[in-house]
Amino acid sequence: MAKTNKGTIGVSTDNIFPVIKQFLYSDHEIFLRELVANAVDASQKMKALASSGDFTGELGKLEVNIGLDEKHKTLTISDNGIGMTEEEVDKYINQIAFSSAGEFLEKYKDKVDSIIGHFGLGFYSAFMVAEKVTIDTLSWKDGAKAVKWSCDGSPEFEMSEGKRAERGTTITLYLDKEAAEEFGNKGKIRQLLEKYCRFMPVPVVFGKKQEWKDGKYVDTEEDDVINNIEPLWARQPSELKDEDYLNFYKALYPMHEDPMFWIHLNVDFPFHLTGILYFPKIKERMAIEKNKIQLFCNQMFVTDHVDNIVPDFLTLLHGVLDSPDIPLNVSRSYLQSDAAVKKISGYITSKVAGRLEEIFKEDRAALESKWDNIKLFIEYGMLSDEKFGERAMKFALVKDTDGKFFSLDEYKEAVKDAQTDKDGNVIILYATDAQGQYSFVEAAKAKGYSVLLLDCELDSHFVNLLETKMEKTRFARVDSDSANRLIVKEERVKPELSEEDKNDFTELFKAVLPKEFEYTVEADNLGADAEPVLLTQNEFMRRYREMSALGGGMNFFGSAPASYNVTVNMEHPLVAKIFDEKKALTLPEDKEERKSAVADYAKNSNLVRLVADLALLSNGLLKGKDLSEFLGRCGDALGKAYLK
Ligand code: ADP
Repeated sequence: MAKTNKGTIGVSTDNIFPVIKQFLYSDHEIFLRELVANAVDASQKMKALASSGDFTGELGKLEVNIGLDEKHKTLTISDNGIGMTEEEVDKYINQIAFSSAGEFLEKYKDKVDSIIGHFGLGFYSAFMVAEKVTIDTLSWKDGAKAVKWSCDGSPEFEMSEGKRAERGTTITLYLDKEAAEEFGNKGKIRQLLEKYCRFMPVPVVFGKKQEWKDGKYVDTEEDDVINNIEPLWARQPSELKDEDYLNFYKALYPMHEDPMFWIHLNVDFPFHLTGILYFPKIKERMAIEKNKIQLFCNQMFVTDHVDNIVPDFLTLLHGVLDSPDIPLNVSRSYLQSDAAVKKISGYITSKVAGRLEEIFKEDRAALESKWDNIKLFIEYGMLSDEKFGERAMKFALVKDTDGKFFSLDEYKEAVKDAQTDKDGNVIILYATDAQGQYSFVEAAKAKGYSVLLLDCELDSHFVNLLETKMEKTRFARVDSDSANRLIVKEERVKPELSEEDKNDFTELFKAVLPKEFEYTVEADNLGADAEPVLLTQNEFMRRYREMSALGGGMNFFGSAPASYNVTVNMEHPLVAKIFDEKKALTLPEDKEERKSAVADYAKNSNLVRLVADLALLSNGLLKGKDLSEFLGRCGDALGKAYLK
C-alpha cells in the first residue's frame, strides 16, 4: 500500500452523513462516549490477547488519552490497544459499519431510533461534530504496517500508509464550526468524560492534574485520570464492606444523606446484569427524586432515565445498573416491549423484594428503625406492582400509635380477639393524625382496642389494597364512629328520633357547626360518660374523597362536600337538657319559620354552643375565632367554679 488509496464508504445511500447529523442532532454529545468506548474495547482486546498468550510482547500501560487543541479545535482519542491493519480498516470502517444501511434506511425512514439502535453508530458518530476525521493506526500483529485514513464527511475516504510507530489507534476530529463552539473547550470535554466515562474499565486520561501555583493553575506531572476502572458494582459482594457501599453512594450522590439499605445485583444467566441499588432516605413526598439510577453497558454510561427498564416504583431507588443485554439507543416504547428488558425488570423487582424479606427475617430491628423512611416506597410498590405487592405482604410493617411495629399477619393475630365484629370481620382501627385524632385514639384504647398510625400520603389507597388482600378484615379510621360503635359486636337497637326532633336537631346543629359541611343527625345511647355529641365521617365516603383527591378517579365523591354524622348521645345530661329546652319553646307551625326559630334558639344557647364546640374540638375542627371564644368561656366558667 504505497500509494494513496481512494474509495467510497460502503453505503448505498449517498447521504448517510447528513442523515447522521440531522437525526442525531439532539444527542450529539454521545460521539465522545462512542469513540472512547471503541478505544477501551481495543485496549481490552489487547489485554485478552496477552493473557491468552497470543501476544507475548510488551503490553505497556493500557490507557486511553484524550487531547484537545483548543486553538485548532481538534480533539484526539488515542489508545494503545490492538490497532487495525489496512484490511481491518477496510472491513470495519469502510464496509461493515454501514453495509446494508441504505436498505435499512429505506425501510425505517420514520423510525430513526431503530436505525441508531440497530447499528450503534459507533465510529461514525464522529461525523456529528467533525468536518474531517482521521485515523492513525498500527495493528499489534507482527509485520503490520501503519495506516492513515481520512474522510471529510462525504462518503469518500482516503487511505494511505501511515507513520505511526506505536501499536494502537488515534482518532482525530476536526470539529466543525458549531461543534467547536460547543465542545472546543476543556471544561466541556471534561464534563462529558465525567458523565460518560466515569467508570469505564480502562484508564481514560485527560491531560495532567493541575495545582494552584503563583496565582494560577498549572499542570503537575500527574496524569489526570477521569475514571474509576473498577467500580464497586463490578466487584464481588463478598469482598465488600458496608463502608464501601456507603462511600460509593456518597461519590454518586454527594449531596444526599446515607441510604437505608442496598442490594448488590450480580447475575449471569439468563442475562447479564450487575449493579447496586440503594434505598434512599425518603423523608417526605416532596423530596422524592426519580431517575437517580444510572444505566451502564459494560461500565459505559448510557442514561439516567431508567423508566421503562425498571417498574415505576423502582425509579425511586438510587444506584447503578449495568447490563449489556439492555438494547441501547432505542426508543422508549421499544424498550418497554423488549423481552430481555421485561425479564430484567422482573428480576430486579424480585431481588428488591427478596432483599427486604431477608432484612425482615434477619435484621428486624434495622427494618423497624428505618421503616418510616422507606414505607412510602414499599407502599407505592405494593400499590403499583402486583408481584411485588404479593411478596411485600410478608414483610410490610405497620406501626401502632404507641410506636410498636408488627407485620400484617402479626397485627391481625394480635388484635383479633378484641376486635372481631359480629360478622366475624377483624376491624383494624387506624389514625391518620395522632395529634388531631387524639381523643378518638384514647377512647378506642380505653375500650381495649389497638390503633395503627397510617399517616402516609398513600395510606387511603393502601388501606383499600389491604382490604382486598387480607381475608375478613376491614379498616376503620378511629374517628369514623364513636368508640362504642367502631366495632359492632352484637346487634343493638338505636333509639329513634321522631321526624320532628330529627328535623329540629338538624337545623339546630346546622346553625352552630361550620357551614362548609353537610350533616346527618342521628341519636344513640353512648353512655353518660361519653361525649354529648359526636361528629364522625363515614369511613368509605372519606376514603374515596381522599383517593380521588390523590387522583384516583371517582370524582363524584371528590367534588361533593364532606359530610359528617352528628350522633346525639341520648344518655348524656347536657343533651337531655337541650331536649327539655327545645320542648319548652313555642315553635311556629310553618316549616320554614320553625327552622329559623330553632336556629335562633341554637345560636343563642350556651348549651348548644358548648356541645357543638366540644364535638368540633375533638375533631380538630374548632379553630381561630371560635376556638378563642370557646377558651374564653371555659376560662370564665372554671374561674367562677374555683372561686366558689
Ligand atoms: P462497533 O464498535 O459497534 O463495532 P464502530 O463503528 O464503532 O462499531 O466500530 C467498528 C469497528 O472498528 C470496531 O468493531 C472495531 O473492530 C474497529 N475499531 C473502531 N475503533 C477502533 C480502535 N480505536 N481500535 C481498534 N479497532 C477499532
